[in-house]
Amino acid sequence: MDKIQVTKSSMPKYEEYINMIKPLWDSCWITNMGEYHQKLEEELKEYLKVSNVSLVVNGHMALEMSLQAMNFPEGGEVITTPFTFISTTHAIVRNGLVPVFCDIKLGDYTIDEDLIESLITEKTVAIVPVHVYGNICNIDKIQRIAEKYNLKVIYDACHAFGESYNGVDVSNFGDASVFSFHATKVFNTIEGGAVASNSRELYDRIYNLKNFGIRGEELIVEVGANAKLNEFSAIMGICNLKYVQKNIELRKDRVNYYIHKLSDLEGVVIQRYDHSKVKYNYGYFSVRFRDKITRDRIRDVLMENGIVARKYFYPITADADCFKGKYKNNKLDVSREVADCILVLPLYPDLELEHIDRICNIIKSLL
Ligand SMILES: *Cc1c(COP(=O)(O)O)cnc(C)c1O
Repeated sequence: MDKIQVTKSSMPKYEEYINMIKPLWDSCWITNMGEYHQKLEEELKEYLKVSNVSLVVNGHMALEMSLQAMNFPEGGEVITTPFTFISTTHAIVRNGLVPVFCDIKLGDYTIDEDLIESLITEKTVAIVPVHVYGNICNIDKIQRIAEKYNLKVIYDACHAFGESYNGVDVSNFGDASVFSFHATKVFNTIEGGAVASNSRELYDRIYNLKNFGIRGEELIVEVGANAKLNEFSAIMGICNLKYVQKNIELRKDRVNYYIHKLSDLEGVVIQRYDHSKVKYNYGYFSVRFRDKITRDRIRDVLMENGIVARKYFYPITADADCFKGKYKNNKLDVSREVADCILVLPLYPDLELEHIDRICNIIKSLL
């Protein structure tokens, strides 16, 4: 039996990609903000309806450099969610900043905006919320808090590519929104990422940080790293962008099929969708079970049947070996409960409906 992975990278037709990379053998310009890097930035600005998009080598560096670009003082505190990919917390800590973990909401797993104010101290410099599984955070409330306390807001929007909230693309909220174009994401450039914002100043800072601070043959304006996206990746992005809308439609059909199969099952909580506010990209489909034992057993039996479902995210980042016990011991009961009970089921544009039947039947038989 074929193994069913939790996701499958979207790729353009082989011939299409090969034809697109052919000119690189004439120009021999394969990185350093080449023609296709520029073209993809332009296309993404249009797709995401935002005025600045800085392409970088991956989503993690996009997060790390967005934080660096804000020039926070060493030891500044950043209020963030522990229910995310470890990258979010790493980006904070690798900037010499201190993560202050805030619990999440049981409804949509995003940061609990009602707890944020109680965590603010005179050291707080920023809020880094995550639009987890494409569920959009309470942007309005977070913005009000940020303005009241003069904090920056950097959204980890890695799960929310192309989504909109009340008709506005998510990349327009906060001081920056960070995307990942990793192979496993809704839109990929093999590896890649971007910082989107409406700040030209931030775009320029990220440019310096991703290119050694080099601004001219003899002009080095600041201490930068190297996080440039190469031309092969940029072309992959240009090809994939043409199909992303179609792929989102296909994903949506599969999510609806899952919901149809699972919605009457007792003991399964399907992730929440708020269609009145959010246009989703259907990047992930998560379900929550009544306890950890059930979740682990379902995952194991799916695995025995060649179906890969992921405990995404378990453990919460605050409990990762490298962070455990190191930071303020805030109440994270909801985060831990969700991490214990959650399972992300296979989802990709050409996932067969019969496979969804098989997955749901196994789940049904175990409840
Ligand atoms: C994928 C992801 C990242 C990191 O992106 P990479 O491109 O893999 O470096 C960060 N945060 C979240 C929530 C992600 O899903």
